Amino acid sequence: MTNNKITIAIDGFSSCGKSTLAKQIAAKLGYNFIDSGAMYRAITLYFLRNGVKLNNKESIDNALSNIQLHFQFNENTGKSEIHLNEENVEKYIRDLLVAEKVSEVAAIKEVRTFAVAQQQEMGKKKGIVMDGRDIGTVVFPDAELKIFMTADPAIRVKRRFEELYATHPSVTIDEVKHNLELRDYIDSNREESPLRKADDALTLDNSSLTREEQFDMVLKWVNEKTNL
Ligand code: C5P
Repeated sequence: MTNNKITIAIDGFSSCGKSTLAKQIAAKLGYNFIDSGAMYRAITLYFLRNGVKLNNKESIDNALSNIQLHFQFNENTGKSEIHLNEENVEKYIRDLLVAEKVSEVAAIKEVRTFAVAQQQEMGKKKGIVMDGRDIGTVVFPDAELKIFMTADPAIRVKRRFEELYATHPSVTIDEVKHNLELRDYIDSNREESPLRKADDALTLDNSSLTREEQFDMVLKWVNEKTNL
């Protein structure tokens, strides 16, 4: 029997719902879902906890050599959760403290080399849905299906605020707006693997789509790619 599993790369701006879609598609297809942003967030958490100097290469290399990341599936959440040196850090990495620093950390060349090598290893056997900023351009340039997600900025702020507010009621909408704008700016303008739509990516603007409509649209694309 031929293995017709494909690789699905989902990129786009912050808080477009990339992970929600990726998780839904992976569950439907029985694929692995990897939230690559969680890796950059966990690395940032380690850097913050250990006072790593972002302008000091030695300090960065040393920190990276002490970081081990792995994902473990949690049946309760239906999600692979990130572990930093065996500690489940899923609940810490969404904090605004981490969100405020993550784009700066993710712009560092050594950090990207470290994360991308692991992401490529995870995708070796295909059957994977990975979301991030450089998945279709750098991590899996040969992915059979590449999706570039966008949504109206005001809608993204609202969605992110509602999501954060549930666990961090002290957060304000202005803080969320500022953080999304800052991250999109740094992610799109950095030297190393900036956020770009791959030439062969399909654009998905979900500003006025329900989750179901979006899911159906993407499933149609998946079927087109797997029935080739
Ligand atoms: O996807 P999420 O918003 O959790 O990602 C957090 C941050 O990690 C992004 O703002 C970006 O700076 C960085 N990131 C990246 N490349 C990826 C995934 C995330 O640079 N593939």
